Amino acid sequence: MNQTYYLDHCGSTPMSARVKQFLKETIDEDLFGNSMASHHVAGRLAFMKIEQARAEAAELLGLKDSKSVIFTGSATEANNLVINGFWLRFRDRGCRVLYSAIEHKSALESCQRIATFAGCQAHEIPIDSNGNVDLDVLKTHLKDNPKRLPTLVVMMHTNNEIPVRFPVESISELCQEHRAYFHCDAVQGIVRERIQVDKQSYGSLVISPHKFYGPKGVGILCLSDQSTCTPLAPFIIGGDQEFGMRPGTLNTHGILASIDALKELDETRANLVKHMTSCQNAFISTLQASPKFHRTIPTSHHAPGIVNFYLENWDALTLLSKLSKTCINRGASCTGAGGEKFSHVPRALGLPLEIQANVLRASFGWGCSVENAVEAAREILDICRNK
Ligand code: PLP
Repeated sequence: MNQTYYLDHCGSTPMSARVKQFLKETIDEDLFGNSMASHHVAGRLAFMKIEQARAEAAELLGLKDSKSVIFTGSATEANNLVINGFWLRFRDRGCRVLYSAIEHKSALESCQRIATFAGCQAHEIPIDSNGNVDLDVLKTHLKDNPKRLPTLVVMMHTNNEIPVRFPVESISELCQEHRAYFHCDAVQGIVRERIQVDKQSYGSLVISPHKFYGPKGVGILCLSDQSTCTPLAPFIIGGDQEFGMRPGTLNTHGILASIDALKELDETRANLVKHMTSCQNAFISTLQASPKFHRTIPTSHHAPGIVNFYLENWDALTLLSKLSKTCINRGASCTGAGGEKFSHVPRALGLPLEIQANVLRASFGWGCSVENAVEAAREILDICRNK
């Protein structure tokens, strides 16, 4: 893509040269067999490769048992499996879900949906104007459980629209103290930090390889310690794949390439974080030439590479339509530019209505250079000057 400034790494990332090469090589291997047909040679070949990938994923993500790794088609699917699966498991007895106001829509809307189902009590946990989740409200709800209903806590690691990392360690401790089940969307978190699922006591956690220079069409769901009781019922049914938790034929090549991407991420994360920080700083300092540029919250070294901003008196959709080279967003990529609907995140920050509708997000990574970040900021400034 010549002459493009790609600033949408929270949306997706370009596949790395190493993963592309890996994929080219594995595509030529005879791995077309259905990995569930492990009674015959063709199926067994795919099965063995997938089991090896599962073991490597468990090792990289700090899981004792490789059976804790469930391959899905996306993180969206994994969030749906966990949240809907929790309700399905406990609906007769009754259950509760506590979730932050700024979860990704795949988690947020799943929580909001089960909240409308019989037997489920739901509480949204607010954030303040700096994006901090209100742990006191979470604590109050965790404590206030006279019927001892099974409780699912859904809190993301790092947000995908604003530079905010939740205090997942404290959330995990609170969940253990109150015997609640902690599901964490670490799709953006894993890009920025090494995550060890067992050690950090997550109940379940999800990541998405296309956010770290791997292929699309794969999600990785980690279900920690299922030895005593699986707190989830299968949400999708009709096959025995993935221990019955995610029926559907597995994407063999995509899974293998995803684990290669995860290995590469582990080796390069420190440099990636430095690069994202340099790009973000160059972008901000160039835009600061205009007094109309405002960030909704300051950048944070805990969540590098994300800038959430608006330009005074500028309608975000108009600005986006005038950008010919710069790829940025209004909200998350999976809702497109958002059309008439705008993101729930600026609303949760308590921003005035006219700003909520006009918030933009730039996110950085290996798909752009520091120079691209500066050029993108200049393209935005030029449009604003020529209004
Ligand atoms: N969760 C977060 C925090 C994300 O940023 C995204 C992608 O935008 C998702 C979930 C969904 O991931 P996928 O594209 O794999 O469905």
